[in-house]
Parts: sequence; C-alpha cells; structure tokens
Amino acid sequence: MKSFHSTREEELKQWLIGCGEKPFRASQILDWVYKKGILDWNQMSNLGAPLKQKLAEHFQLNSLKLVKTEESTDGETTKFLWELVDGKLVESVLIRSFDRRTVCVSSQVGCPARCAFCASGKKGLIRNLSSAEIFEQVFEIDRFLKEKGERVCHVVYMGMGEPFENYEAVISSIKLLCDPNRLGLSQRRVTVSTVGVVEGITRFAEEEMKVNLVLSLHAPNQKLRMKIIPYARKYGLDEILSAMRCFAEKTKRDITYEYTLMSGINDGLDQAEELAALLAGQQCTVNLIPYNPVSGLRLERPVKEKIEAFRELLDARGLNVTWRYTKGKDIAAACGQLALIESSSQREEN
Ligand code: SF4
Repeated sequence: MKSFHSTREEELKQWLIGCGEKPFRASQILDWVYKKGILDWNQMSNLGAPLKQKLAEHFQLNSLKLVKTEESTDGETTKFLWELVDGKLVESVLIRSFDRRTVCVSSQVGCPARCAFCASGKKGLIRNLSSAEIFEQVFEIDRFLKEKGERVCHVVYMGMGEPFENYEAVISSIKLLCDPNRLGLSQRRVTVSTVGVVEGITRFAEEEMKVNLVLSLHAPNQKLRMKIIPYARKYGLDEILSAMRCFAEKTKRDITYEYTLMSGINDGLDQAEELAALLAGQQCTVNLIPYNPVSGLRLERPVKEKIEAFRELLDARGLNVTWRYTKGKDIAAACGQLALIESSSQREEN
C-alpha cells in the first residue's frame, strides 16, 4: 500500500484518471484529510462507494499508532509516543509557549550520533523514518490541537535522530508540512538541527528553502566535542563551522549554535572564553541549554550561578546569547527518553 501523505497532488490526479475518475476529486480528498482531518474513507460523503473502496485498497492513511501521551505538570509540554507499523517506537513533543505551538519531531528510530547526554543515542541508529512517518507526527498533533481550537505553528527537527543522515526523507517531509494543500506551514517556522553532517549542511544551503538551521555544538573544541558527540570524529569542527558560515551567506538566514551545559564537562569559564573566540565575528545566536538529567547517565546540570556566569562571559564578548531550560523536566523531556523507557519495559514484559 502506498502512503497517502507522501502522494503529491499531481500523482493523486493521475491515479484518479487511471481509475476512471475526474481529477478534481483530488482536491476533495485532500480537503477531507487535511482541512477536515477525516481519516476514514467511508466518511468522505461526496465520494462514490467504488472510489472509496479503491482508495482503501490503494492508500494507507495512517502509519502511526498512539501508544501514550505524557503531560508535564505545568501543562506546557506533552510527549507523544508512537508505534510504527513495524512495532518500532518514536516520540514527538508538543511545546506550548504563550500562543505558540511547536512540535519537535523525530527523523530516525534511534540515532547514529550517540551523544553522551542523550537517551536516543544510547542504542545507535535503528532505522530511518519515511517522509510520511515524519510528517504524520505533526499532522496527528495538529489534529489533536484542532479539537481545542489550536494549530501547530512551528516545527523543529530536534527529536530522535540526525536529520541529515536521513536527508531525502527530511526534505520531503518539510515540503509536505509546507504544502498549502496539507498543513501549509511557513518554511521560516521550520528548524532543522544537526550535529554537523557537512555534506548535509552544504546540500541544505542549495535547497532554496527558508528553513532555519541549528548546529548542536556542545563543546568549544574538537577534542571535547568528540567525547560528547562520538559522531563528531567524522568531521572537523573547522570544516563544520565553515559549512555553517557558507549556509548563512548563501541563504541569508541567521544560524544558531546549541550548547548543552553539563556540570564539570563544558561549563567552565575557560570553555566559555574558548567558545567566544571560536564564534567571534559570526552573525549567530548561541542557545545555552542547561542539561536535563537522563536516568542511567551520570551527568548533572550546572548550578544556576555557573550557568549565569557562562552566559555573562559570552555576552561580554559580544555574542548573542539565549538560554532555555528544557521544558517538561518531569516527563522525561530529553529526546528519546520516553521511547527508551517504553521499549525497556516492553522487553521486561516479554
Ligand atoms: S542529542 Fe540528537 S543528535 Fe545527539 S544522540 Fe540524541 S537525537 Fe542524536
């Protein structure tokens, strides 16, 4: 069966013509699915019974099964755990901030980057997600929000996986999200985060998209970075930063460097000084993220004074700095934690 979500409108029209139907049925079907949120062919009342039958035989409308949701006590964050058709688990996070509704999506099951502070990287890469599986995470959360009169307005590729190791599916999923016949999101409200796949950054700059790019930096030098992100051995920091600068020049988009602060690892003032020197003269933002503890990992969040001192030093060196606490600390908010806990408990049950 073919995924309906990854079927382009033109392709759908050709399929309809092949079935002896009029091509205008395509916009009726798209309207049912994406405007009305109907996922049952039988409820599409302006389609004839033979067409409904053919649609049901040819297209798969949903490939994600909701296993559970968890909501933070402050109500700002909801985690969604999905089961894929092959039984693998992935998660997405809905973050509410004032009237902004952001979805953090996964692009892979597991992750090849194996960052020291992350649950998703613990087992390495299991498989890539398809463009439809990525798109559906947002589509389903948008349907969930619609019932409350709200909509998804921002999407970040910061969940499980390294997006540029699943490049084609990620780009296709962004196109689906921004397709006016589907969710119609603005490209400017989509952000892709990478640990620094140089070929991916270079290719991304050529896409003529207006999507934002974030580099998960986490260290001011290559030696420490390789300890925090084993995958970083593949590319030198100079090479990555040069690709990021080229991206900024080519696309005229600002770039962001994310830096997860871990106590005693990368939170010293000498490291802040080194980071300031590394990024000196660049038009960029440094986003400091105090580490969110993951069970089984012996890493700690720095105390508030240390975080503040780190931020002040970068600020004094002229860098544009923001910092955010990971929302939803009480619901295992670090990426991959919910899927990891769930798959371990499934193993224990079996
Ligand atoms: S933090 Fe992101 S890149 Fe690193 S292992 Fe986790 S999912 Fe992969």
